[in-house]
Amino acid sequence: MGLANCKGCGRLYNQQVHVNVCPRCRQEEEQQFYAVREYLKENRRASLYELSDATEVEVSLIIKWIREGRISTVDNPELHYPCESCGAPTIEGRYCKPCKERLTKGLEQTKQELMENRSGDQFRDAYYHRRDQ
Ligand SMILES: [Zn+2]
Ligand SMILES: [Zn+2]
Repeated sequence: MGLANCKGCGRLYNQQVHVNVCPRCRQEEEQQFYAVREYLKENRRASLYELSDATEVEVSLIIKWIREGRISTVDNPELHYPCESCGAPTIEGRYCKPCKERLTKGLEQTKQELMENRSGDQFRDAYYHRRDQ
């Protein structure tokens, strides 16, 4: 632990495990989180941008909370954010579902299909089709 620079304001503070901002910034973040949560109680179908405007909390911070699971996208279905790969609305993780599937099993599957199906052209078409999506 020891001293570290706060990721929020740059001041030196006594760092604790898994906390990369100083207590003051952390408290500020908690207050923002509280405002967001209160707003969502009244406005369950608010979009990410409506929520950000209404609470003056940065969109990136709200996305961070969604990713951390502190804000539920099950309770608030409009709180999606753009997939880092294709920009499609996403409610969990960094990528939308199709991208995640493609990224996680794409390579493995490609290898497997290559083993199973060595008749060239058909396989190549399918492969490029997937990549273009
Ligand atoms: Zn700070
Ligand atoms: Zn995507």
